[in-house]
Amino acid sequence: MKLQITNFNISMYKIKNVIFINLVIIISLLGINNVSAQFTNELTPAYYAYAQARNTAIPQNQLLPNLDKTLSLSIHIVLDSLGEPNIDTNDIYIAIDTLNSKFSPINLSFRICSIDSIENYQWDTLVVNDDDGLKEEQQMTTNNHIDSTINVYFVTAFEGLPQATGFTSYPGGADNIFILKDNVDDMTIPHEFGHFFGLLHTFGDGNATELVNESNCETSGDFLCDTEADPSADLPSAYTANNQCELSPMLKDSNDEFYMPPTDNIMSYYGDCRCKFTKQQYRVMAYEYLHNRYYLW
Ligand SMILES: [Zn+2]
Repeated sequence: MKLQITNFNISMYKIKNVIFINLVIIISLLGINNVSAQFTNELTPAYYAYAQARNTAIPQNQLLPNLDKTLSLSIHIVLDSLGEPNIDTNDIYIAIDTLNSKFSPINLSFRICSIDSIENYQWDTLVVNDDDGLKEEQQMTTNNHIDSTINVYFVTAFEGLPQATGFTSYPGGADNIFILKDNVDDMTIPHEFGHFFGLLHTFGDGNATELVNESNCETSGDFLCDTEADPSADLPSAYTANNQCELSPMLKDSNDEFYMPPTDNIMSYYGDCRCKFTKQQYRVMAYEYLHNRYYLW
């Protein structure tokens, strides 16, 4: 099957991830990266249509792609008002080692090419959710962008999104990833790279609810059939992963079957339970590298 919509313009879509203080992650905000920088907690129908068509068109009965590629990272650390970085570069190298281990099944890796400091301390609390914030974000990234590399910015806080730990753009968008300094050592970085290479959340961001029996997996959730049904987008914060990384309290779908969400999946919101991608997720990321992020070097 041939995918017909590879030139679909998805550059306007930007994803913002929000994590609650208790580290069990509940809410996502999705922003439309246009001049008004409006935010919504739903993906747009256009992006859903693209993602669903793409995921359906990618053959799933083949070996994983072997990309045999190392991409360059430009690390930017925004200094605070005292000129302090407040992040240990050793921790960044360790985080990229972890990132590389997560992407090793498709032989895609990342190498830190440069680490620089940004001395405008006002950007250390990056305003991201209003007109001024977009200007601020654009100013910072325009002034510091290194072409053909993935630009990773570390800041202390996102003003206006106090619960966010990171955000980025889908393929077709900018080559920027924003990470909070305090979250350098958890799954925030692999999660954002998942979005950067086109993955949706396992719960589909308010898309139609996936059934436990996976009968509607191609038309609901993240449009992937090897990520179990995840209802977390629709649940109150009382629903979390317990010590065994099971949904707690338990919950049934409309067929009276218990949800067993993929709490170990990096694109879920189950905090420290997260550790892996699935084969279908790898195929999507490889596809997006080859078709929409191929210019990275
Ligand atoms: Zn996310």
